[in-house]
Amino acid sequence: METTTERRVLVVEDEQAIANAVAARLRAEGFLVQIAGDGPSAVEAARRNPPDVIVLDVMLPGFDGLEVCRRIQAERPVPVLMLTARGEETDLLVGLAVGADDYMAKPFSMRELAARVHALLRRAGKVAAAPKAGPPTLRLGDLEINEAERRVLRDGTEKHLTPTEFDLLVHLARTPRTVLPRERLLAEVWGWADVSGTRTVDSHIKGLRRKLGADLIRTVHGVGYALEVDR
Ligand code: CA
Repeated sequence: METTTERRVLVVEDEQAIANAVAARLRAEGFLVQIAGDGPSAVEAARRNPPDVIVLDVMLPGFDGLEVCRRIQAERPVPVLMLTARGEETDLLVGLAVGADDYMAKPFSMRELAARVHALLRRAGKVAAAPKAGPPTLRLGDLEINEAERRVLRDGTEKHLTPTEFDLLVHLARTPRTVLPRERLLAEVWGWADVSGTRTVDSHIKGLRRKLGADLIRTVHGVGYALEVDR
């Protein structure tokens, strides 16, 4: 068990069997778990008892998980692990666009779910512990990254990235023009050693390209990604 103080997880899922199984596993890991079964009650629950992390199904009554994510993130940023139906690439991309940090396709193992929740909390903790007076703004060509304020500008325009997209961009920007293997990005940005998760890296790269421009990140097939910027 990695938690010392009780961390709060909001599980949003209308299929009761899945919700109960997820909640039981997370309680066994030491989390305080609350369950919401539809969109409106999820938003309400997050407002009443702000969670440290949210496990969020996409298909929900009321309004769907994407709308839940959008509304909750607009009030207060919180790490979100989204649950998607297998093969629903659209859900996945929209989910990342509305501020989900990670996703898992159903069916998933409870062990993997718990590992992802712990990884999300570790990353969120690192962000909170980051010193306020951080390194100066990193300037690479027309790209400006302010790590202390977690802001990104391209060509003078501010771009709104999810916490995960920001961390991924910073990793690539520390060694511009250098190819970073997907497995290494997964380990360093997400904190996983499991190479089966490299598709998550690809999805977040897509998000970065959509927000910052397709020319910024080069794919090296079978290896990884490099940030292509002028010095
Ligand atoms: Ca559902």
